[in-house]
Amino acid sequence: MKELFLIKLGEMVLKGQNRAAFDSTLLKTIRRRLYSAGEFEVRYAQSTIYVIPKNENCDMDRAQDKLSKIFGIVAFTRAGAAEKELSSICETAVEYLADQLAAAGSFKVESKRADKSFPLTSLELSREVGAAILRKYHHLKVDVHNPELTVRAEVRDFGAYLHTDPLPGAGGMPSGTGGKAAILISGGIDSPIAAWMMARRGVELVPVHFASPPYTSERAEQKVVELLEKVAAYCGPMKMRTVSITHIQEEILQKCPEELFTVIMRRFMVRISNRIAQSEDCGALITGESLGQVASQTMQAIRCTDAVAELPVFRPLIGTDKAEIVAAAHRIGTYEISIEPYEDCCTVFTPRHPRTKPPVFVIEKAETALDVDTLVAEALESVKITPIRIR
Ligand code: ATP
Ligand code: MG
Repeated sequence: MKELFLIKLGEMVLKGQNRAAFDSTLLKTIRRRLYSAGEFEVRYAQSTIYVIPKNENCDMDRAQDKLSKIFGIVAFTRAGAAEKELSSICETAVEYLADQLAAAGSFKVESKRADKSFPLTSLELSREVGAAILRKYHHLKVDVHNPELTVRAEVRDFGAYLHTDPLPGAGGMPSGTGGKAAILISGGIDSPIAAWMMARRGVELVPVHFASPPYTSERAEQKVVELLEKVAAYCGPMKMRTVSITHIQEEILQKCPEELFTVIMRRFMVRISNRIAQSEDCGALITGESLGQVASQTMQAIRCTDAVAELPVFRPLIGTDKAEIVAAAHRIGTYEISIEPYEDCCTVFTPRHPRTKPPVFVIEKAETALDVDTLVAEALESVKITPIRIR
């Protein structure tokens, strides 16, 4: 029995003149990602991408898992392929969908005839396939209003295909079609989700992580690598920049009021990220901030950090509740890693009573005690690059 995947395109269909570029980016991504599942033919026709195994060695389950993580695919089906003849279509329906038909109590058949030269109408085809199924599965009842199983028969250019409900895709836009941005990534729950959300809009990510050695460990940094690997399964490989922020933190601690520590440190993170982002041709910064979550995420504190940003700062989680972020973390598999108790540069030095509504001028005055440019330049010299791969 021949099996294949049919991929229907979502929002991309709306992209007008850019459409061709979007399609070819997606086709390239599909080919690259399926490489480890075997040899597949990937071709585009009639608003559908056909993914066809070239030989018996293809791992269809692995391919299915890979396809479910490709941005730009809204839904896809795994289908049995038949000849464009009624007998072959009926036979394929009965055999290919055997397990699902055996498990269901009721069903209906829906047919689509994209090849108008096929001699039967959709209705006639549905009736014939339904009859063939009933001849083999005596326990089944037809229920056109509320069936347990919908059998779908599609007659297209290259063949006929039998399948049931489509599988959900990751949605969004193909990776790389939405520009490039630097994501400030910690080992927490929020920033990996912010990364995933922007990657889903087609944004290529440049992860920037701040560490405070020796207060933060190698293992804490490894945790961030593992989190990014989960995101990379969706958006492809990345290059993480790790920056040491230890000296900056020590200077702030010594020379600035303790209650302003976190906001001043965030401003350094943004200044350093500006520079990395610009050298990498990024159009924006991304953070995992959510309004009011902690003292440094009040509207006034965010205004203080934005005051030093030289690029737009995207905060995809700004209006979300923690519970929603946690649910997303479970879905993409980052939650269990995020809750591992390793120290973060933000938790190493935490003011006892952070100021929640600092005016920008107060922060700017406090920073006059610091040699900002030299500290930023020094931190940039510490940048270490770690490749993030798809596992
Ligand atoms: P998260 O799960 O993102 O750590 P959080 O609630 O702990 O969430 P904060 O620690 O206040 O948030 O950090 C807010 C944002 O600042 C993070 O979402 C992230 O974008 C950035 N950030 C925090 N710590 C770091 C770090 N060590 N390196 C890079 N960016 C960081
Ligand atoms: Mg954090």
